[in-house]
Amino acid sequence: MAPTYVYDFAEGGRDMAGLLGGKGANLAEMTRMGLPVPPGFTVTTEACRVFLESGEPPPELDRQIGEHLAALERAAGRRLGQVDDPLLLSVRSGARFSMPGMMDTILDIGLNDLSVLGLGRTPERERFAWDSYRRLVQMFGSTVMGVDSARFEKVLAGIKKQHHAADDTRLDTCDLIRLVETYQDLILEETGEEFPQDPAEQLRRAVLAVFASWNGERARIYRRREHIPDDLGTAVTVQTMVFGNLGPDSGSGVAFTRDPATGRPGVYGDYLQNAQGEDVVAGIRNTVPLQRLEDLDPASYARLRDCMRRLEAHYRDLCDIEFTIERGTLWMLQTRVGKRTSQAAFVIAGQLVDEGVISPREALARVDGEGLARLMFPRFDSSGTGDVLARGLPASPGAAVGAVVFDSAEAVRRSAGGERVVLVRQETTPDDLPGMIAAEAVLTSRGGRTSHAAVVARGMGKVCVCGAEELTVDPDGRLFSTPSATVREGTVVSVDGAEGLVYLGAAPLVDSPVMRYFEDGGQPPGEAAAQVVRDVHRLMGQADANRRMEVRANADTPEDAARARRFGAQGIGLCRTEHMFLGDRRPLVEAMILAHDEAGREAALNALLPLQREDFTGILEAMDGLPVTIRLLDPPLHEFLPDLTELSVRVARHDALGRRPDPRDTELLAAVTRMHETNPMLGLRGVRLGLVVPGLVAMQVRAVAEAVVARKRAGGDPRAEIMVPLVDTVEEFRLVRAEVDRVLERVSAGTGVTLDCPVGTMIELPRAALTAGRIAEDAEFFSFGTNDLTQTTWGFSRDDVEAAFFSAYLDKGVFRTSPFETIDREGVGRLVGIAVTEGRATRPGLKTGVCGEHGGDPASIHFFHETGLDYVSCSPFRVPVARLEAGRAAL
Ligand code: PEP
Ligand code: MG
Repeated sequence: MAPTYVYDFAEGGRDMAGLLGGKGANLAEMTRMGLPVPPGFTVTTEACRVFLESGEPPPELDRQIGEHLAALERAAGRRLGQVDDPLLLSVRSGARFSMPGMMDTILDIGLNDLSVLGLGRTPERERFAWDSYRRLVQMFGSTVMGVDSARFEKVLAGIKKQHHAADDTRLDTCDLIRLVETYQDLILEETGEEFPQDPAEQLRRAVLAVFASWNGERARIYRRREHIPDDLGTAVTVQTMVFGNLGPDSGSGVAFTRDPATGRPGVYGDYLQNAQGEDVVAGIRNTVPLQRLEDLDPASYARLRDCMRRLEAHYRDLCDIEFTIERGTLWMLQTRVGKRTSQAAFVIAGQLVDEGVISPREALARVDGEGLARLMFPRFDSSGTGDVLARGLPASPGAAVGAVVFDSAEAVRRSAGGERVVLVRQETTPDDLPGMIAAEAVLTSRGGRTSHAAVVARGMGKVCVCGAEELTVDPDGRLFSTPSATVREGTVVSVDGAEGLVYLGAAPLVDSPVMRYFEDGGQPPGEAAAQVVRDVHRLMGQADANRRMEVRANADTPEDAARARRFGAQGIGLCRTEHMFLGDRRPLVEAMILAHDEAGREAALNALLPLQREDFTGILEAMDGLPVTIRLLDPPLHEFLPDLTELSVRVARHDALGRRPDPRDTELLAAVTRMHETNPMLGLRGVRLGLVVPGLVAMQVRAVAEAVVARKRAGGDPRAEIMVPLVDTVEEFRLVRAEVDRVLERVSAGTGVTLDCPVGTMIELPRAALTAGRIAEDAEFFSFGTNDLTQTTWGFSRDDVEAAFFSAYLDKGVFRTSPFETIDREGVGRLVGIAVTEGRATRPGLKTGVCGEHGGDPASIHFFHETGLDYVSCSPFRVPVARLEAGRAAL
């Protein structure tokens, strides 16, 4: 039997959105609820998929549409396009996920040169009939027959100009008749085909055009941004036309059952008298607030309010509604659970719990981490932003305003003087860290979402836009240029990290009370607190009660650790020790790496030891009683050594001038050349460094051990864990672990303090994941470094790819989101799953977590929950998001 491709509204329901699209499913639901819905039917997304795949509609479709149309005509007592009193139809798109305005709609199907006379059979309807007809010819001509819509607009503008008519409503019947004729001529001229007079043909072609609009450019771009799959297809609803433009007792409007901006209950919406729905959206005339309808048409208003109450009670959520009043009769044209701002999402969820409509658990499902993140950042007051100067990747959200600077030193200098600055670099390196700390925002012309700038900025909660390719950064000239402007140092710009946009000048900012709430340690807010803060507090409590996974933070300073704790972190999942070796300490690290004798190395290590011990003591104090996972040094080597090119130039310049180069430079050049790597990310880093540089592991472990001793002696409860990075094989881990154990024992024996520091490994290379069963023989815990695991599984350089070819890959549908942003379940995720299973087979109860950037990404957090990880670790500012999402994952 042929599949069912067409459903009458009375046959569907809201749970059929996959097949009927959101619009079709909700129209069916309203029909079943007995609300006043103009009758109609929906052609399924399945029929659309057949059409998109084969270029032809399913053979049974015509017959099925014909049967439903006949039923519709019988019920209406009129036929489609009937000459004396035509039944007219609207044909609208409706995908599973709302794609507002991205696909096509055709109204007034059924009108032709004869039925237009039937529709306009009375003098007062004449103008209306011809106006409807010209709308159909225009919409059909452009959408179905492919005539450029600008051509129609031009004709319309010409006629309006001739008649000095400010808007369409000033055109009289004769003008409209002329317009229809001119449009029809235009269609013939452009396509060689007449505008079809057969209503059945109009309907069939309109349905196919709506199918095809699924692949229109607008729709494709929107899907990409919203991560909507490309293969779903759209349903098509075919519905009896009702008219809001029949006079002052008619009109169209939109209504919300609560305020979608703030969440407050009440009547919200707009109404436009004597207008079709399109006119409301197009803003051709000014609408009035919905409440005014109470005066204009009290009976319809009362009916509408009743429908709104019933819909909200039925959907148990904010609904938005499109309606039309035709001569005093209310018709519901659409409803759906309405989109809302992040603030409204939290407030409405809280209200619905208070009203006893939903359970607290259900409320948790109604909010999300990205919404929470948006609530935490100060924002630009959207009315105050100016022209866009540049666009890049929205790498770290928030809004920042500052003077442009081009190097770290200038950023530090100006910010010390109280100036707010935006650091602009082609890309950042660890040397830029002081400048990044000093800056309000970081803007780079190269690099992706896991580039240095992005990772570090997110970690610090700094605004960052990266990979703004149209920017040419000229640090020597102290300016950057875009195709349209040149911006010199000191010029004030505004950076919107949530949208990836940069504006010239200072856009006004508004503060976030939600951020203040977290900064204050998430204390129960008082009565005076903003409603959104009280609802955030309540939902965070619900999430914490619900979640199985712990949430830790990636932090390398006592300040970050303390903040993470205030934000609710249950420990540190990753303390990147290389971040402690930057700035003033870099020469010591350089000396350690380049030392050519034992004594030189020991001197460098001895100088580093007390500094490291102090770092660790501070962090352990801030996280007293909670685990702190300290990772042994893991820098790609080039980050710690002088730049090879710069050094070579310096030496060569001396040579050229016939002067003897500084012997230190010559020596350094030889050493740096010796250690230079083409692929430092795959080179001497992580565990490899520890195995090659004698004394390095011992120094770091000793610093940890002595910090633990110091904290214990101070009456604290330090819980240090030692983690080995970039392990490929169990042999590497064993060698390092032996040294770690030796040092721990030595410090313990020397101080008489028992040291109980678990020693575990990162799993960030495919080989480690595949041999996790072996590694777990010796490692006491696993932490998945999904940044490197993604890099090495895909073979994508995490620093380069996003700028190089990701946008082409996204365009071509190779993936819908960057695998550096959301875990690739199929590949990288599979490796994580294998490692967890095999690790736990060797060591039951093996503690597992993730500390790559994915630890703060909502979709990835759900995956880690499903895979059985014990915790996620993310930057301090993402901790609330991770708590919320871990709670939602466990629903
Ligand atoms: C990782 O690779 O996921 C990780 C956390 O380590 P890093 O980002 O420091 O390489
Ligand atoms: Mg790593």
